[in-house]
Amino acid sequence: MRHILFILTALILTFPVFGQQVVIRNPEIQQLVQQVNADSLKKYTEKLASFQSRHTLNRDDKNGMLAAQNYVKAKFLEFAGKSKGRMTANIEEFVVPGDGRRIVADATVGNVIARLPGTNPNDPRIIIVSGHLDSRNKDVMDAAGAAPGANDDGSGVALVMELARILAQTEFSATLLFVAFTGEEQGLKGATYLADKAKAESWKIEAVLNNDIVGNSNSSETNISNNTVMRVFSETIPLTEDERGAGIRRSINSDNDSHSRQLARYIKELGERYVDQMEVKLIYRNDRFLRGGDQTPFMKNGFTAVRMSEMNENFLYQHENVRVENGIQYGDLPEFMDFEYLRKVAAVNLAAAASLGQSAGMPQEVKIDVRGLSNSSSLTWKAPIHGKAKGYYVLMRETSSSMWEKKFYTEDTQMKLPYSKDNYFFAVQSVSAHGTESLPVIPSPLSR
Ligand SMILES: [Zn+2]
Repeated sequence: MRHILFILTALILTFPVFGQQVVIRNPEIQQLVQQVNADSLKKYTEKLASFQSRHTLNRDDKNGMLAAQNYVKAKFLEFAGKSKGRMTANIEEFVVPGDGRRIVADATVGNVIARLPGTNPNDPRIIIVSGHLDSRNKDVMDAAGAAPGANDDGSGVALVMELARILAQTEFSATLLFVAFTGEEQGLKGATYLADKAKAESWKIEAVLNNDIVGNSNSSETNISNNTVMRVFSETIPLTEDERGAGIRRSINSDNDSHSRQLARYIKELGERYVDQMEVKLIYRNDRFLRGGDQTPFMKNGFTAVRMSEMNENFLYQHENVRVENGIQYGDLPEFMDFEYLRKVAAVNLAAAASLGQSAGMPQEVKIDVRGLSNSSSLTWKAPIHGKAKGYYVLMRETSSSMWEKKFYTEDTQMKLPYSKDNYFFAVQSVSAHGTESLPVIPSPLSR
């Protein structure tokens, strides 16, 4: 059955039906996506918001940050029960040096991490799903005052917990990390610690799906209510680009093809394939104005990362003290959230993370032949290093298009297409035995 479905996918995608979109869902991933539950997400968020404060520097183990960390860790360990002893969880403590600004003096803080190792010990790929556990009120240095942080970023942490619950039962080749960062509001401290460590230890992080403020569907000021749209932010010019990288980018015009942008497109394609009534908007920015997020330290270390956020933000609730003023309720409380919306954002994350986990990994040494004038395009590549690809899609789009428009399937490791290399952009992705695609890789030029 799987085989037939796969052939069908390949056929249909090779001969696109104009004006119609063919939706073919892998039953295994669909079954996982369907397990994402709004009630679970609500329960986790309410519990997280019930602690007095999850401020990074709060050390209260009864009703503060330490208690919240212990809660998340305990839930991770509970979910690990379904992992046949594979999933582990811990609070990884470290000392964040005082910076005289948002960290007054050296402080011990901790990220809460659940780790589900891949089933293939020779597959080093790591996929990270994250949110930040710390919260704040108006005064970013107030470590004691109420800071429920339901949406910022209780929503992101609840999403991470829900994915850990569901994915604990899966057996993917790659390793999954579920992370509740600390110190986001104090200057991305927890993410910086983990990203620096990952770089120093040469982790093979394939993707970071960072979720920050993902559970509200109604905007302040413009009063737009819409629970069918979310955003994925991805960097345009890589933060780590050097002279050589810039030269390559100019020569192949890959300004709209950073690794993060490929991941963002992948999330849009897979998310919209599996989650009904949800549009994923690609935002060609690293983040919003005046705001940052935990994806950035990973980008600064050369990893592929994106930030997911709700479409319509409500600034009456973010970073505000809980109070009523002129009849208006302020503060980041769970009652302002939309858990059906959060369910869909979580489902999009799950569809993307599970697909990456099930994929065979990216094809290697993808090249396009630019050695001569021609009205065609010739691409070559090599098999992924760790997984087994059944075949490949060559992706094609107009140079002015934001999304890939055609997929050509082959079981070979080369393809010549009767479309001029001057007029289109291309990429190659592997297709696993399940029919699941890897992240696309754009070709580097094969020149004389
Ligand atoms: Zn946040």
